[in-house]
Amino acid sequence: RKFNFCAGPAALPTAVLERARAEMLDYQGRGLSVMEMSHRSDEFVAIAEKAEADLRELLEIPSNYRVLFMQGGASTQFAGVPLNLLGAGGSANYLYTGIWGKKAIKEAEHLAVGSHVAASSESNGLIAVPRQNAIQLSGDVGYLHYTANETIGGLEFDYIPEVAADGVPLVCDMSSSILSGPLDVSRFGVIYAGAQKNIGPAGLTLVIVREDLLDRARKDCPTMLNWKTAAEANSMFNTPPTYAWYLSGLVFEWLKDEVGGLAAMNAINDRKAQALYAAIDGSDFYSNPIVTENRSRMNVPFVLADDRLDKTFLAESEAAGLLNLAGHRSVGGMRASLYNAVPEAAVTALVDFMGDFARRHG
Ligand code: PLP
Repeated sequence: RKFNFCAGPAALPTAVLERARAEMLDYQGRGLSVMEMSHRSDEFVAIAEKAEADLRELLEIPSNYRVLFMQGGASTQFAGVPLNLLGAGGSANYLYTGIWGKKAIKEAEHLAVGSHVAASSESNGLIAVPRQNAIQLSGDVGYLHYTANETIGGLEFDYIPEVAADGVPLVCDMSSSILSGPLDVSRFGVIYAGAQKNIGPAGLTLVIVREDLLDRARKDCPTMLNWKTAAEANSMFNTPPTYAWYLSGLVFEWLKDEVGGLAAMNAINDRKAQALYAAIDGSDFYSNPIVTENRSRMNVPFVLADDRLDKTFLAESEAAGLLNLAGHRSVGGMRASLYNAVPEAAVTALVDFMGDFARRHG
């Protein structure tokens, strides 16, 4: 297998794919694939419950939080958040730090929810997150939403914002950083994430919600988006994406048993990011504009000094077995995503390639 730096759907651990292959046709002697099982069968319910238990253990999720395995991607939760939290009114407050946060804001506006940008990185050109003392909530704040890691800009919060208003939940889109290290879930009202980066296959969407927030939905919240409905049905109100759920469970097992938990994963992710940023900073040929403390560990965008070399860089890196290094289509340049399943050897290979490329073309 080649080294895959895709931003999503992203690399999965090879050990997980090998295990899925071994169990593909005949799951543990049952004579059928997990894909073919009823979601109500004892076998599948056991798979689903084990996945949730392992995730709870990894993230140390407190017992007053529900874990929901939903569908539709994080983008669907851009609507799910206001629909589930603003039944009693209130305005949707957002921290704006990049493209994904902007989409979340737009969706709230689309639902005719009064939205308020409580702090923004716009004035600094999206290279640093707003500090706590810059956050100005609206008087009628219903929740504060932020994007922990902006996947396209490569901008990551280095702190968890405080909501200095009683009972107002902090909501976080953690699509591209969840499970990259330990997390204090109790600081949040709601965490959600599309699965296709650090969790598993695209399609599954994780929502972790504090139980007392399940009674705040708007009356017009569609059933399939309603977190309380999902919680009461153990995420099986309709047919869930069973195979994606199973594979995500294998990823959680891998994180626990092979990696050794999220503290160990955190240390590996630190080393990977440091190695790549050091290579970028140590060369006049490459650059990344983000302030040091907000540089994303998961998504490292960089540009070449001469963008006429972009195509050559991409062609040569692909030929060297380094896949998907093109930046997002909206910004260009390069981007290396270093999610959990990207091994340290991949970063070493990338750094070596970059050094060699700069010597040959610089
Ligand atoms: N939020 C962030 C931070 C993302 O990186 C992405 C996708 O890359 C999304 C939301 C959208 O996720 P989905 O494609 O699951 O709707």
